[in-house]
Amino acid sequence: MEHIISWEEIIKRVNKLDKSKKYYGVPRGGQYIAAMLNPVDTIEEADIIIDDLLDSGKTKQDYAKHDKPFIVIFNKQTEEELKGKWLVFPWEVKEEPVENNFVRILQYLGEDPTREGLRETPKRYIKFMKEFLAPKEFKFTCFDAEGTDEMIVQTNIPFYSLCEHHIAPFFGVANIAYIPNGKIVGLSKLARTIDLYANRFQNQERITTQVAERIQEELEPLGVAVTLKAQHLCMCMRGVKKHDTWTTTSKMLGAFKDNLDTRNEFLNLIK
Ligand code: ZN
Repeated sequence: MEHIISWEEIIKRVNKLDKSKKYYGVPRGGQYIAAMLNPVDTIEEADIIIDDLLDSGKTKQDYAKHDKPFIVIFNKQTEEELKGKWLVFPWEVKEEPVENNFVRILQYLGEDPTREGLRETPKRYIKFMKEFLAPKEFKFTCFDAEGTDEMIVQTNIPFYSLCEHHIAPFFGVANIAYIPNGKIVGLSKLARTIDLYANRFQNQERITTQVAERIQEELEPLGVAVTLKAQHLCMCMRGVKKHDTWTTTSKMLGAFKDNLDTRNEFLNLIK
């Protein structure tokens, strides 16, 4: 049976000891106790050797050669009420693994987290989330545009994200266009920019804006256009249960915002 000892209980016992004496604390538990009294660094300087707990008595034997009083604040051999108990001191309480929180959520939802299919789920879930939420930053390696001043469009870039309100997936495709102003970038970088902002707890509007602004910042083009079309599982799976509802967002910068012809050209290309 586990018995967690409180600081209150410890202080009550420590306060009964003589603070004018010098205490050497036995590592590690005894050091916490000595620190509350009048600690010294070496056994030679000490009047008393102190430990937190006397269990089998082995530690006491190990220190017998120093010929100094050896005291403990909890004695399992003499205190009836401590016998057979597994004592845990405040400094021994281990930090819980994070997945235990997920186990509790499963229990709260009426599940049995010990059943075969769920046993490893909390661990797997944390691992999956950590992997998904760690998109890699990368360098926008640019090339000389060499007279290219026509719109560059990349369509149907798949993306996956998690809605920040429900931690439910939303996913779909992105279209990105820009008009170079002396610099172009490898096409794979546009797809990676989407991942960089989608692989987070997000909303669709924010991804769209962040992607457009990042490309604007890195390439300083004459304009950037980004559209995202996505299905949100938090909408599909509950409430009105519309299976074919798509949400479209867009962000236009520079020429795409100011010039209707440019914008229409882009919208035609992604149709
Ligand atoms: Zn949602």
